[in-house]
Amino acid sequence: MNDATGRTDHQDRVWSVAEHLDDVLSAIVPLEPIELPVLDAQGCVLVEDVTVAVALPPFDNSSMDGYAVRVADVAAATEGSPIALTVVGDVAAGSGELPEVGPGQAARIMTGAPVPPGAEAVVPVEWTDGGTGRGPAATMRAHSAAPQDSGGEVRIHRPAAAGAHIRGRGSDVREGEPALAAGTVLGPSQIGLLAALGRGTVRVRPRPRVVVMSTGSELVQPGEALGPGRIYDSNSFQLTAAARAAGAVAYRVGAVADDAETLRATLEDQLARADVLVTSGGVSVGAYDVVKETLAAEGQVEFRKLAMQPGKPQGFGRIGPDRTPLLALPGNPVSSYVSFELFVRPVIRALMGLPDVRRPATPARCTDAIASSPKGKRQFLRGAHDPAAGTVTPVGGAGSHLIKAMAHANALIVVPEDTTDVPAGGTVDVIPLG
Ligand code: AMP
Ligand code: MG
Repeated sequence: MNDATGRTDHQDRVWSVAEHLDDVLSAIVPLEPIELPVLDAQGCVLVEDVTVAVALPPFDNSSMDGYAVRVADVAAATEGSPIALTVVGDVAAGSGELPEVGPGQAARIMTGAPVPPGAEAVVPVEWTDGGTGRGPAATMRAHSAAPQDSGGEVRIHRPAAAGAHIRGRGSDVREGEPALAAGTVLGPSQIGLLAALGRGTVRVRPRPRVVVMSTGSELVQPGEALGPGRIYDSNSFQLTAAARAAGAVAYRVGAVADDAETLRATLEDQLARADVLVTSGGVSVGAYDVVKETLAAEGQVEFRKLAMQPGKPQGFGRIGPDRTPLLALPGNPVSSYVSFELFVRPVIRALMGLPDVRRPATPARCTDAIASSPKGKRQFLRGAHDPAAGTVTPVGGAGSHLIKAMAHANALIVVPEDTTDVPAGGTVDVIPLG
């Protein structure tokens, strides 16, 4: 960095975790809304107020299998002296033509079927002889196999009040009423409501497309043979999975060699499908720290030191014609993952227009002592958090290469800047990663 970028003072400055996140988020604008098929809108934020076009239910319908009757006809029905009614027809769910139920008559009706004209209540089949004198269960089975249109009788054992076992038109929600407000996050039951209202598509902010790219000439793709000095590229997998878990549509680009030209060309290619770019590796001060060398030189990405461990070096900027946000994360697997959770996940959620973009921290009792946490840095240790017990146990050490320990943890333990030691049983903040 030089004077021309106007960032000379930034280079020496050490940023706190909160300052860096605030700075990154201040550059993020939620994505423009689009119309999506309702199922594709799962997890997205609604940007329109949805009102009810058709009442739910759209017509009076039966909540039971039984007989649609007139209240006066069955008022005197008892077990001892049932009332016999003439069955004038069968009404199944979806029936369009309905029999008229006159005095002394009943229509056999199924759950969800429209209540026929003249009927005022539904008597469940259990309160009847099931029709034509046979046992109720056997009769209903026989009927559904071979529906009878009319004829026969049913004996009713109990009276029914007006409206009994009828789900009235609009009893769920009336025409013109608000169904869902803009800002609602669409989960399974909101998607169900939209479909019930007849909505095929809905206006939401889309999921951001996140392109994840790792850098390092030492990296080999899993499944291939390792050569001397080589390691498998785990970051691009971990970060792509993390981006998906955060709600993004994520694309994994395999490892890019530590070569400025290759990196530049790959970034340019990927810009076309990215709402956010995430790189790992190459951001320290080593001889082959190609991400930093390449992107800092162009002046669009700023590299800074953070008062945190792991994750001290971080890059952030916006590149390309659309000023696409780019987060350059450090290469050590734990560092890149912790950085993702702290900085990239909030970016993804801010792009989606979600309200709570930061993972909340919660206090827990630390079962083991923590010693020698670096002074002046916020340390993020890996922990096994038991929310029911309110405890957390550190997993593995502080090393940022400890991939296995990370995989056996479910939370980050936050050791504040001014804390170097936590006694066993002391209280710490944890960030659950579920
Ligand atoms: P760097 O920041 O590029 O110097 O990388 C720091 C450390 O992380 C080195 O030991 C790298 O080999 C390792 N590393 C970098 N990228 C990856 C990756 N994609 N997967 C696994 N380890 C990586
Ligand atoms: Mg590297």
